[in-house]
Amino acid sequence: MTQSDREQLPALPDLHRHLDGSLRIETLQELAEPLGVTIPDELHFSPGMGLDAALGLFDVTLAVLQTPQAVERVAREISEDARAEGVTTLEIRYAPQQHHGAAMEEIVDASISGAQDRAGIILCGLYGDPPELFDRFLDIACTRPGVCAIDIAGGPHSGHDFRMDDYAPAFARARDLAIGRTVHAGEGRPPAEIRTAIEVLHAQRIGHGTTLLDDAEVTELVIEQEIVIEACPTSNWHTGAIAAVADHPLPRWLNLGIQACVNTDNTLFSQVNSSQEHRRALGIPGMTPAALRAAIACGHRAAFSR
Ligand SMILES: [Zn+2]
Repeated sequence: MTQSDREQLPALPDLHRHLDGSLRIETLQELAEPLGVTIPDELHFSPGMGLDAALGLFDVTLAVLQTPQAVERVAREISEDARAEGVTTLEIRYAPQQHHGAAMEEIVDASISGAQDRAGIILCGLYGDPPELFDRFLDIACTRPGVCAIDIAGGPHSGHDFRMDDYAPAFARARDLAIGRTVHAGEGRPPAEIRTAIEVLHAQRIGHGTTLLDDAEVTELVIEQEIVIEACPTSNWHTGAIAAVADHPLPRWLNLGIQACVNTDNTLFSQVNSSQEHRRALGIPGMTPAALRAAIACGHRAAFSR
């Protein structure tokens, strides 16, 4: 262990943590039993599994998270777990339209109640979802300060009825309402997606963005507009967006003056917590304690939570 590994970490931010990928395993087991939901032996991401297989794991957790009670419990436990990991700035995200045990408003209220001012809530539409869904999110967010932002998660497929451009009116409305915008983009996919997220959807933050440096112009755009990249190194390694954590572009981003922070994405599926993720980020060749401190400061500064 090097000197820097032993260095005490300051208070941490985690701006990109999915509710349905960050349950405690005991809670998942407890919720699954009465519902007869079978938990596969391999309920975690593994290197090179691919994004589609990774996204398939959410079917298992979603099956036990349909009711407001389950959502509230898990939001509470995630907030408690993050605090224990040293996280003081937390945002939890999920797709409330995938929880059918109550009206969407009730599901969202349950997550706000579970987080109890310890975390901002980000509502995720999924690539391909109808644009009206985002308008509904905004209606919900307008009366609930606990909801701090909207996001597009999952991944685009050729069979989808809607593309990123179709969400432009809703994201423009979010900007006018001063509701935060983040988009999963460039997660192993071409960096043009990052440009669309910024120029068409007014994204202030980008989830993943691993391919950013493949395009010098998009990189310049990110720097100029001070867009924050939510790095998730362990998740990116697992889904195959990068070949190894050591290959993550985080140190190169920070060197170029790109705003970037370190996030867990899914503590259950990636079997990682925020403290571990920050230490792992520090181990990426080219990272320094000063660079890590800059990433941590960025995460606190870039929070949407009001
Ligand atoms: Zn994510």
